[in-house]
Amino acid sequence: MLKPKLAIPYLHDHHNHFTLYAGMNGSLCLKEVRDKDKALELLKKLPDCGLNTAYAWNSGFYTFTQSELNSLPPVLIVNLSLHGFILNDAAKRILEPQYPEIINNFENSEWREAHVNELLLFFVRIMPHSVESMCAFAEDLRAKYGIYEIEDMLMPSAEMFEMIQNSPLRERVSFWADYETFKTLPEGIRRQIHGVKLFADGANGSKTSAISEPFLDGSTGVLNYTEKRLTEIFEECAEISNGIAVHTLGDLASKQVVDAAEVLRRHNSDLPVRIEHAQFIDEPTARRARDLGIVLSMQPNFSEDSVIYRDRLSERLLRANNPFRMLIDKVGFKPGADLLFGSDGMPHGIRFALSQALFPPYPGQKLTLSELVSGYCTEKCGELFEFDAEEVLQ
Ligand SMILES: [Zn+2]
Repeated sequence: MLKPKLAIPYLHDHHNHFTLYAGMNGSLCLKEVRDKDKALELLKKLPDCGLNTAYAWNSGFYTFTQSELNSLPPVLIVNLSLHGFILNDAAKRILEPQYPEIINNFENSEWREAHVNELLLFFVRIMPHSVESMCAFAEDLRAKYGIYEIEDMLMPSAEMFEMIQNSPLRERVSFWADYETFKTLPEGIRRQIHGVKLFADGANGSKTSAISEPFLDGSTGVLNYTEKRLTEIFEECAEISNGIAVHTLGDLASKQVVDAAEVLRRHNSDLPVRIEHAQFIDEPTARRARDLGIVLSMQPNFSEDSVIYRDRLSERLLRANNPFRMLIDKVGFKPGADLLFGSDGMPHGIRFALSQALFPPYPGQKLTLSELVSGYCTEKCGELFEFDAEEVLQ
């Protein structure tokens, strides 16, 4: 029987971590390795010269003793959630001179939770990258997942920027840089990237997103900045950067970002401001955001949080997550103009995003195919991406 096909323009993924995933692609993947002996066998085969990296280790299946680790070539093993790692003494000797703070603190779980983004950047910096491996990974994303353009939200270094600029990927990969990394960049590069990426709050998985209602176990999320400090950084970015994008999950965080943007506008700055995720933004805050010209960069993939986080979010919050109908029908956000879509790489590509858009856990999360295409696709590639309809339609 002939399988029905869908065809849409290729994606512009407005929120991804290309260099992180490309580095993982060149590292040993332990995701499917559920047995410790098998893992040790694979790790022993790694080259003995220089640092090796492995990722997606599930510490629930097995752990390693330090002497087992020390019997291996120099290796650092990142856990499945990307929130922690282990390493052997040989790897420690290689990394300690350049990354003393991380090597001295990584065993402290509180420190790790407070430094999630530094850890992600550390992984990007130590994982293997060559122009060839990144081009091959980008080709995979295009051919298998339908992704043409990619915004990398955490540029690791000026060197990475130059590497991409001097490669065929300059047409497809663009960057944001976190505040600390941005400050190290020469003026010339600062003006060639989208701008500064900030983090206003944490994540739903670690119950650190700043939501006005507590999680079911009574814990409450955290705002990373005071109102005063956030406004200061916004004002500074208006001088030094092309734009600002703020990781903002909880409604309290959205409100704080909109308040800071309001001060900026009052001072006559038209600096582009983007809210990344905006999962629990409320209607009054959304109206103010729209009036201030703030762009929402959201992930239809994360409508699934309303299923996987049933154990920690109230029914009201499950329903409030990713409120696309409110944003479009009531507040007037327009996909492709001030409402953009991306994946965060969880997972990459159109299939899961489309199934979450068309068949979401809650009706308020629904997007039409044409809304999704307007907010997520690019004409730049010139062709259509074709895939089996049954991979999306349930
Ligand atoms: Zn992200």
